[in-house]
Amino acid sequence: MTQTDPRRLIPRTDALLALPDVAGARKRLGDTAIRAVVRAVQDRARRGELAPDAVAAAVVAAVSAARPTSLRPVLNATGIVVHTNLGRAPLSGPAVDALVAAGGYVDVELDLGAGVRSKRGVAARTALLDACPAAEDALIVNNGAAALVLATTALAAGREVVVSRGELIEIGAGFRLPDLIASTGARLREVGATNRTHLRDYADAIGPDTGCVLKVHPSNFRIEGFTSAVGLPELRELIAAQGVPLIADLGSGLLAPDPLLPDEPDAGTSLGAGADVVTFSGDKLLGGPQAGVALGRETAIARMARHPLARAVRADKLTLAALEATVRSASVPVTEALHADPAHLRARAEALAAAVGAEVVAHDGRVGGGGAPGVPLPGWAVRLPESAARRLRTGDPAVLPRVNDGACLVDLRCVPATDDGRVLAAVRAALAGGQDR
Ligand SMILES: *Cc1c(COP(=O)(O)O)cnc(C)c1O
Repeated sequence: MTQTDPRRLIPRTDALLALPDVAGARKRLGDTAIRAVVRAVQDRARRGELAPDAVAAAVVAAVSAARPTSLRPVLNATGIVVHTNLGRAPLSGPAVDALVAAGGYVDVELDLGAGVRSKRGVAARTALLDACPAAEDALIVNNGAAALVLATTALAAGREVVVSRGELIEIGAGFRLPDLIASTGARLREVGATNRTHLRDYADAIGPDTGCVLKVHPSNFRIEGFTSAVGLPELRELIAAQGVPLIADLGSGLLAPDPLLPDEPDAGTSLGAGADVVTFSGDKLLGGPQAGVALGRETAIARMARHPLARAVRADKLTLAALEATVRSASVPVTEALHADPAHLRARAEALAAAVGAEVVAHDGRVGGGGAPGVPLPGWAVRLPESAARRLRTGDPAVLPRVNDGACLVDLRCVPATDDGRVLAAVRAALAGGQDR
């Protein structure tokens, strides 16, 4: 470096950290994050990408743009409603408000009137029981897998879990339900064949060693052809005399039937058909936060709540708050996206396409999240060149389109209509970026 080297003029770290806007951001971002921002801007100046006298302003701008979390909000333009890679269900406005309010101290385990400790999460439990009158009691845990493991562990208590070979599923990312259940020490007693299981298969397996009978909804695949399975009413009748509990893992979490998804089981119907306990996820079709819900008979739920494992899979206050608000809402984003009117979707797609000179194509959305495999949700998408996809993903806001058959498809089903303008701006930017690269 010479005496005239402009790099000598780059403001020093101390001076930059002392700028009022930078010092003021310390509480929000923390020292390490702020120093990283400062260093990155200084490095740009050292490489000659930034004039030394522009460094201070660039640091202030970068600090005010920096966020304390690196998770980036994404506009979901895939048409896949419960998108696992995007965190499954987006929360409703009221659920977000409830979650934010629960961020501080809340009466999650306190009776404010009496001034004494209360049962944790009563309000969320009451909301579930109001929404599903067939259930006598409810327990909320961390996720669907935890609800299932707790149910089998607490109710089968070291004895056998009888389950059909057609229901030994892998739920994603390599996690297999049979392994999960076996990991807690329960013994699996597999019955039937992959494609067909009969009532007599269950009858032959049930005996003094039986802890529970488990029905798992094969949520993420379909077997077609020569198949048969035994329904809950038949199983209930078979085991009625033995007092063996019947557990149904529903997966997706409908509380009541949805005519759009005739093959998805729901909690109310399954309990009415004889299940003692049903378990499901909070962040699939229910449209709430990540959670596992168990609904069912009072005695069975009480055994689960008393089991030591219950403490290890307990739901936090944020989950309880968001779940209660979700269940109490008249409508949630997942339900709205599932039931979106195709004519309305088409009009929105056409407006977007017209603004950027693209065409609209028919495009089926999906339930996703391992739910309702093979059920198409008829809709529309704006067809863009495939090269737009990466620019949409990496733009601001980030937009995730679907890439299929050499095209980038923008499906507005899961985008709130109030965000159409943001999608348009992102698409414009992505298409403009295409000319100079
Ligand atoms: C999704 C699913 C689970 C697991 O639920 P998580 O909330 O992901 O833990 C278990 N069983 C079935 C049938 C599922 O579809």
